[in-house]
Amino acid sequence: MEQRSAATDCRIPAIARLRDRLAGPANSSASAWYQNPGDAVSFDRVREILDQSQDFDAIVIDTNNPDQAVEWLRELRAHSQFGHRLLFLTQDLGTEVAALADGVAPPPTRMRTDVEVWRSRCASLMHDGYLDEEERLLAFLYLRPDFQVHPVVDTRDQGYYRYPLLDAFSPSGHDGLAWSDGLRRARLLEPVKLVDRLRQCSSCTSSHLNYVDICTECKSIDIGENIFLHCYTCGNVAPQEQFVGRAGLCCARCDAKLKHIGVDYDRALESFSCNECSARFIEPTVEAHCLHCRASSPTTELPERRVHAFRLTDEGRLAARSGSRRQSPATHDTQLNLNSAYFEQTLTWLLQLRQRHNEVQFGVLAVRVTNAAALIKSLSHVRAQQLIDSFGRRLHEVIRATDLVMRATEGEWFILSPQTDRDGLTALRRLLESLTVATEQADGQRLEIGCADVAAEELKDLAIGARVLLAELQGRTV
Ligand SMILES: [Zn+2]
Ligand SMILES: [Zn+2]
Ligand SMILES: [Zn+2]
Repeated sequence: MEQRSAATDCRIPAIARLRDRLAGPANSSASAWYQNPGDAVSFDRVREILDQSQDFDAIVIDTNNPDQAVEWLRELRAHSQFGHRLLFLTQDLGTEVAALADGVAPPPTRMRTDVEVWRSRCASLMHDGYLDEEERLLAFLYLRPDFQVHPVVDTRDQGYYRYPLLDAFSPSGHDGLAWSDGLRRARLLEPVKLVDRLRQCSSCTSSHLNYVDICTECKSIDIGENIFLHCYTCGNVAPQEQFVGRAGLCCARCDAKLKHIGVDYDRALESFSCNECSARFIEPTVEAHCLHCRASSPTTELPERRVHAFRLTDEGRLAARSGSRRQSPATHDTQLNLNSAYFEQTLTWLLQLRQRHNEVQFGVLAVRVTNAAALIKSLSHVRAQQLIDSFGRRLHEVIRATDLVMRATEGEWFILSPQTDRDGLTALRRLLESLTVATEQADGQRLEIGCADVAAEELKDLAIGARVLLAELQGRTV
């Protein structure tokens, strides 16, 4: 990994353009803008860009061929230096391409602002290059705050839906879906929208299923629908054609003339028959036949797969910034904040203890930066981030050594303080508020916080559970 240098931020944007000599450039204004050597340096291959000593802020992919665009985008997204960067197109090339790119290139003047905003977010990351795929994906998502990872329909794919972006970032380059499961378990990604629900083959998990009606007796697919008549005289049930004679309806078995429906005959309940075993039935059985492995399963036994769009979690955002998930997966981050699972476990334990022993004392306090958006607006993203980070560091200096801290989001912390009562919590609150004084800027702006707390003796329901208690406090800091 490469440490970022502070000097990179005052350059004018450096744009590279990948031109497609075979298929030709796109016929669009975006293509025309960046053919101008003053606005971008042109290359024929990704390798040529990588070999340059120059550090490009953005790459414009100028082709009208979706396959070429996908090939270039995948190569760049898998690269340690370029994976997280701005990669633009010069025309819309379909959903697969769109999933890997940052949209169609804006005009050069707006590109300048886009790159500035981009650099300002980059400055709050520790690194500028990511050999590790997971860190690269987290950085990519962190740098695009509102980004959602969307699945695209791919009828050639066994699972029917794919995540082209996760595929491109994943270590293997193709199993983004399996990879996303791990990222979800690690609480780095979370579902944001349910896109579809699919049934899967129970033996190979393919979603390419054919639902077919079969014979209830011998399971043959060779069945047909027919009208069956029922002769009252002899009880014969047979397809209607067998009753139609030259002189009206007549039973083929007993020769009775069928003159009046309801008197001589009626329609049988069964309307399906099997051409293999001649069985008759009212409703055929429905089975799912897998078009991949040919396995057949009852429709009630097909596992369901939920297809979601994902986004980065608050924990994912923190991990992207500290880059510390790999080194300390256990209990702490680099600022000595506990991970949420460990924090919740400890709180659960104290709540249970208090149920048995009334003398067990503790307090929980939530603290949140309430003016982060305003600070980012007036100071820049990086400066605001630095203020919030330094508050987070100072917070550890004012608490007691036995207090536990969990950073829930970038501007939100929980403190669990054993042997602390109402008075102790109020004192802690005052200390935290005093910390914001030191963050005052030249223009009088400073960090503002909101606190919410509860002491064990104030808890009405000790069985409430740690998760709910924390969420309730969190809601009161707004
Ligand atoms: Zn199958
Ligand atoms: Zn049959
Ligand atoms: Zn008959």
